[in-house]
Amino acid sequence: MNKTIRVAIDGPSGAGKSTLARSAAARLGYLYVDTGAIYRTIGCAARRRGIDPGDQAAVVAMLPSLSIRLTYGEDGLQHMALDGEDVTEEIRLPEVSRYASLVSAYPEVRAYLLEMQRQLAREHSVIMDGRDIGTVVLPDAEVKVFLTASAEERARRRMLELEQRGTPEPYEAILRSIQERDWNDTHRSAAPLRQAEDAVLLDTTDLDFAQSEAALLDIIRKGAGQ
Ligand code: C5P
Repeated sequence: MNKTIRVAIDGPSGAGKSTLARSAAARLGYLYVDTGAIYRTIGCAARRRGIDPGDQAAVVAMLPSLSIRLTYGEDGLQHMALDGEDVTEEIRLPEVSRYASLVSAYPEVRAYLLEMQRQLAREHSVIMDGRDIGTVVLPDAEVKVFLTASAEERARRRMLELEQRGTPEPYEAILRSIQERDWNDTHRSAAPLRQAEDAVLLDTTDLDFAQSEAALLDIIRKGAGQ
């Protein structure tokens, strides 16, 4: 009876996947896995080691020497450790976003992280978010959601978030960086971002957080047969 449920949430950056997924997971008692944070940790490693993220051979050569661990703190939040050091905050730097976007295009990087992601979903009921969860990582997931919003709305939300954090950035620069990452995510040959055929589309452009969360929970409950 204790069947684990796998919920795959994919979509472009800034669509609110992590906030919504974390909140829905807490309500349902599932583990929330932020796979973007794992790719960011690889980007962070390249940056720390002075490796050009555009140099595929150098990035791939770095992989065997990395120690990447994902843990859950007492706060229930996912923490990332790189070579024994907590990098949970460092991986959110805008510079690391750019590194992550570039290194995640390499098939060797994706292969390196595939089993780590699948293992988490074998052990727990999960809500896992990323770009290729429903298409590649968990193609048999019980529930698949493609979560999106217009690039302009995503940029607007991101701008408010950065203002609240005390690290404001101009709207135009944010929009450009979102569009650049969208392009990288959808045009790479290895596991490009796309909606799985059996995924439910959830567009939150005109929804506030509460409405988005209610819609997401509804999709999950229906899909999980609860
Ligand atoms: O979701 P987040 O923006 O934190 O992801 C960081 C980067 O990692 C993204 O730019 C995306 O290219 C990449 N990524 C990926 N596959 C995933 C999750 C994230 O390629 N499953």
